[in-house]
Parts: sequence; structure tokens; C-alpha cells
Amino acid sequence: MRRFLLFFALLSVAARPASGPGPMPAAVNGPLLGFSVSGSEAQRGLEARFDALLDPSRLDAWTREMTDAPNYVGSPKSKANAEMTARLFREWGYEAEVVRYDVLFPTPLERSLELLGPNGYRAKLDEPVLAEDASSAKRDGMLPPYNAYSADGDVEGELVYVNYGVPADYEELERLGIDVRGKIVIARYGGSWRGIKPKVAAEHGAIGCIIYSDPRDDGYFQGDVYPEGAYRNEWGAQRGSVADMPTYPGDPTTPFRASKEGVERYPAREAPTVMKIPVLPISYGDAQPLLAAIGGPVAPMGWRGALPITYHMGPGPARVRLRLRFDWSTAPAYNVIARLEGSEFPDQWILRGNHRDAWVFGAGDPISGHVAMMDEARAIGLLAREGHRPRRTIVYASWDAEEPGLLGSTEWVEDHAEELARKAVAYLNTDSNGRGFLGMGGSHALEPFINEVARDVRDPQFDVSVQDRARARARFEGNRSVGVSGDLPISPLGSGSDYTPFLQHLGIASLNLGFGGESGGGSYHSAYDSYEHYKRFGDVDFAYGVTLARVVGRATLRLANADVLPFRYEALARHVGRYVDEVTALVETVREETERHNTLVSSGAWVIAQDPRDALIPPDLEPAVPHVNFAPLLNARDRLAAAASAVDARSGAGPGDVQALNETLYLAERLLTHQDGLPRRPWFRHQVYAPGYYTGYGVKTLPGVREAVEQRDWVEAEAQIVRLAGVLDGFSASLEAAAR
Ligand SMILES: [Zn+2]
Repeated sequence: MRRFLLFFALLSVAARPASGPGPMPAAVNGPLLGFSVSGSEAQRGLEARFDALLDPSRLDAWTREMTDAPNYVGSPKSKANAEMTARLFREWGYEAEVVRYDVLFPTPLERSLELLGPNGYRAKLDEPVLAEDASSAKRDGMLPPYNAYSADGDVEGELVYVNYGVPADYEELERLGIDVRGKIVIARYGGSWRGIKPKVAAEHGAIGCIIYSDPRDDGYFQGDVYPEGAYRNEWGAQRGSVADMPTYPGDPTTPFRASKEGVERYPAREAPTVMKIPVLPISYGDAQPLLAAIGGPVAPMGWRGALPITYHMGPGPARVRLRLRFDWSTAPAYNVIARLEGSEFPDQWILRGNHRDAWVFGAGDPISGHVAMMDEARAIGLLAREGHRPRRTIVYASWDAEEPGLLGSTEWVEDHAEELARKAVAYLNTDSNGRGFLGMGGSHALEPFINEVARDVRDPQFDVSVQDRARARARFEGNRSVGVSGDLPISPLGSGSDYTPFLQHLGIASLNLGFGGESGGGSYHSAYDSYEHYKRFGDVDFAYGVTLARVVGRATLRLANADVLPFRYEALARHVGRYVDEVTALVETVREETERHNTLVSSGAWVIAQDPRDALIPPDLEPAVPHVNFAPLLNARDRLAAAASAVDARSGAGPGDVQALNETLYLAERLLTHQDGLPRRPWFRHQVYAPGYYTGYGVKTLPGVREAVEQRDWVEAEAQIVRLAGVLDGFSASLEAAAR
């Protein structure tokens, strides 16, 4: 995100600052997707009134109040924030309840890390109080830096530096003959979701894992450090979950079931997604003595961070002892669920959520998004009192226990799966919010819809829409798929926030929205993600908080009031077609790489291309890549394109049996799921979008086929092609029926 700072500086001399929101140009005032001409006019009037009800000073006051004590799941402050949120929702006219689940939430009893030799060092593992940040002095009840769902352990061994600790890094280690079996690895943050690092380390036989924040990533290499600047200082550390979320999120002890009294649970330490080795996050202050003590080969150029040392890979001579012990209790997670019943279609639900729990104070993550959601809900509640009750039911959710692994949302979704499968029209998610550019991710059936919304909301600093500002950024960065007009492509969703159970478990069309790109920094999951930090370096005047409320509130109101639900399937068919092209091409890339590799190895060129002092071990020959039959998938792609055009034409034609059409439109995404889920992870049912098994948050589209190809499992690839083609055909059949 930091690189956008330069962009912002350049743009600010070229563009005229806006004097504030005014009327939109006439060109965009045509009928809205799913509304008649007169309905669009009424809806736009309602939205103008909605905008006028939003106020940044409320966002500021709520942020201060909700972050005045540590508010992680199970803390007294988290419960107080839940009660406050529920009380406010009731004041605004919602039926609000606090829904409790009892979830596994380990907290540290013992954390110690010692360098035993060649010299000694005891890691501080502590973020000191800063005079400039009053919050940092509130030590009472603060969770120290740790990784939730690490194993207990007391391990001792030689250190190996593994770069980001992703599978490609272990291939490099193997070439150098470095084996991590029985060793403790140290990886830097970045390159993947953090939980991948200990998972891959354990798969390779490591007995412990240390993850540190290199200053190159979010410290002094990026900018001045806190409290002088926004970036991570010497002792700042990144907390976070290391549960194996790409297998399933939520309470590790209760996959597929809600964590309520009497539910059957895995024993805590044996739950499948609990990490098998001890893992600890540390600051770069604590990492430097450890890294400096590692010998062995110098790390490849791409592995080096910004510490003033030469990075070596090991193993040893550095030896460390890592001791971790946790309290494996359950904690109460308090979701707030607030409902505003629809006047005409009470059984069609527009769901809208943001998590409320933090690791420490969480002014940025997640309260900046939560307060925007609150003001949006307040305004919609007031509009209902003024006689503008939404036609469909709106359900707001303030999630607890997102940080340890989407527990609040996942348990609620598992609890209400059957009802949600019938009634949920869409789920709109936000999380941390900053200043800058609108990020849009989600189901591609909603791409035209959310673009239309973004076209109708103005950027608070420039006299353009938030869509055009996001477009300018994408074009500036050389994204060739973005034109001077038309819709911006929205990103497919992997994981990392509460949309996952809705989208990837139940197949509910989802969007994830938020601003960022200007307000860089390094407070993420540290004690310094405080009100003080956010007011200096975040969205300081909450202008983008209000803008987020304008975007997501509009989306919520339009979905709630549209005659014809604004799902459009040509965009989805186009993106799926592109993903099909990608996985087909990927097989050819793998074939070419395999042939090149085998020629290099068998000819002996691989050996003489090296520096002999490195004593590299030549790799094995790889099995040849067979031909893969993509015909079923190519046929399904063509049928999908035709079906999507037909149903979009029907949706655009307006009246008729709109109720039956609407049901097909919002239930269609369910048909992109398969009841058996993905290979080795049945909880993840969506066949188009999933978090990568080896990337974590990073998305894999057409995951069953793509990951089989990436893993070179050709038997599985063929089976997944047939399955995916069947899923797409079922989806197309439903659209074809609706078009008729
Ligand atoms: Zn968050």
C-alpha cells in the first residue's frame, strides 16, 4: 500500500480538490440496475437523505470509546462493546440481540525465546509503553505478542532462516542441501498468510517456528517508525492466528457445527486446524541477534531484508530454545445481530457485517470499518422511522472473534446454515478502513452493481467519483484490464475476513469493500494500532469512513429496494472464461518448465551453471506432463456464456414474474458450490473462489482444478475438471430456465 503515497503526491498537484459533495453529473443519472425510471428517482432521493444523516464526528467519538481498553474476544471490553452496539442498534429501531458462542481461544501462559549460542540473548517479547501514545500504557489485560493456536512446546535446536517460509523457499533450501528436520526455522512476515509458514515448516519436519517483522516489510525501510512516523518500530510485533484456516475457519474444535453448549468437540490440542509445532511472532529488535548468529551460506538476494546484517541461511551455529505454554480455555464470543424487517419481502435478507474484536485496541483493525457500519445502520434506521422502511430485510452483524480465525461469523453461519441458504440475498463485508482508493472484491455477479454504486459516490478529496479515483490508480499502475470508462474488474475473494463462511461455505454472493492506499503504516496487530496512531496516520478526519458508509449503505439500500435484484451474469461468465483459459495455459507452462528442467539436468548444464563453492545438489528429473482433457470444462464455459447473456437480457427487460426471477438470481451462486467441497477440505464448497491451500488469504480461482495442476496431480486434475464442468452446467441450467 505504501507505494501509493508517491502516486498521491503526483496526483495532488494535477487535480483540483473538491469543495465537497455536490450533484452528480447528469450522464450517470439514468435508471439504476433493477429499478424503473421513477423508482430510480425515488431511490436517489432516499440516498441523498441517507448521505445527509452521516457525520464523521460520530465515527471519531465511537472509535475513541470502543478502543479505550484492549478488546479481544473474551475480554471485558469486548463484551461491553457488544452491549453498547446492541443498545445503539435498538435505539435506531432495530431488533438487536447479543448472540454468544463458546469458542476455543488459547492465551499465553508462558513465552520464552533464548539464543543459547554461540552467544547468548534473551528475547524481550514486549512492546514498550510510549509517552506519545497513552493507549500503550494500558497494560492491564493486554495480550502480549503471540500466535493463537500455536502448539504448546519446549523445543531446542539449530536455527534455519527460511525467507517467507513458503513452499518455493523450501525448494531453494533443498537445492542447497539444507534440511530443516529437527531444526527451528525463522521466517519473515510477508509472502503468504502467516499460518502457512508453520504449516509448511512442520510438513518439512521443523520442530518450531519463529516469525519476525522485517523492517523492509513495514518498518524503517518503508518510512519513519512509530511514534515519529506510522511504521513498525524496533519492538513492535505482529500478533495473529496460525490456525490452518485454508482447511476450515471458525472454532477449530467444531467444523460444520456451531460452538454451542452440548456440541461434540475435538479435544482442543488435537483439533485438525491447530498448529502442530510451537510458533512465536517477534519484533526485529528481537530477531536481529538471532539472525546475526546464523552461519552457513549467504541467503539469496531475494531473501535479504533491511536489517544491517548479512543474512545467512544456517543451519546453526545459532541454537535457540523456544518455550510456549497456553491456556486452552474457551472464551465467550458475542456477536451482535440486528434486524430491520423488510416491508414487502421479509424473507429475503441483505446481510451486512464488520468484525468488532481486535488483538489489542484495534483502532484501525477493525474499529475504523465498524464505526462506518454503525453510522450507516443508524441512518438506515432513521430513514425507516421517516417512512422509508426497506422492502427486504436488512441484517447487520457485529462479529466477535474474527481475529483468531473468523470464529464469530463462522459459528453463526454454521448455526443458521439452513435458513441462510434459503433467505440470504447477499453479504456485504467491511474490515479495516483507511484513506485513498476503493478496493472492491467479491462475487462477479455483483460486479456491474457495485461499479454503479461506486460511480455514484464522490471521493472526499477530488472532484471525481470513488470509481474514477480507483480507476486512475489502476491505470497509473499499468493495469491493462482497466479502461478509461466502463466497469472496473472486482477482485475474486480468497480469505482474511468474515465473508468466507457466507461465500465459500454456503455460496451466498458476497462483496468486500474498503478504502486504503494513502495511509500506510506498520501498526497492524500490534499494541500501537491505537486511537492515537489512527488520529495521526489513519483516516484522521474520518472522511473516508463516511465515504465507506456512503458506498456500502447505498449498496445495502439498493439491494433491499430493487424490483429486479441487480445480479448480472455476463461479467461472471467472462471472468470464469478467463480462469478457464488460465488453468488450461498453466498445464502448458508446467509442461514447458518440466521439459526445460529435465534438459538442463540430464545434459549436465545445471551443474556447470553453478558456483562450485556452493556445492549445490543437482535436482531429480521430473515426470513428464501428460495431456489433460479440458473438453468438459471448455464446453461448460461456452454454455455458461450463452446462459448468462440470456438471463441478463431477461433481467434487463423488467416486469413479468419478477419474484421467481429474483429467487433464481440470488440463489444462483449456491449452485457454484459442491456438497463435497474441495479435495482435502470439504468445508470449502465454492468451486470458483477459495483461499489457496498454500497461500492462505491469497485467492485461487477454480481451486479444485488449479491446485491439482499446481501440485502436478494429473489424476486429480482430470477428476476436478469433470466436477467443475458439472457444477457450471447445473448453474447454467438454472440461468437458462430463468431466461425462459
Ligand atoms: Zn480485521
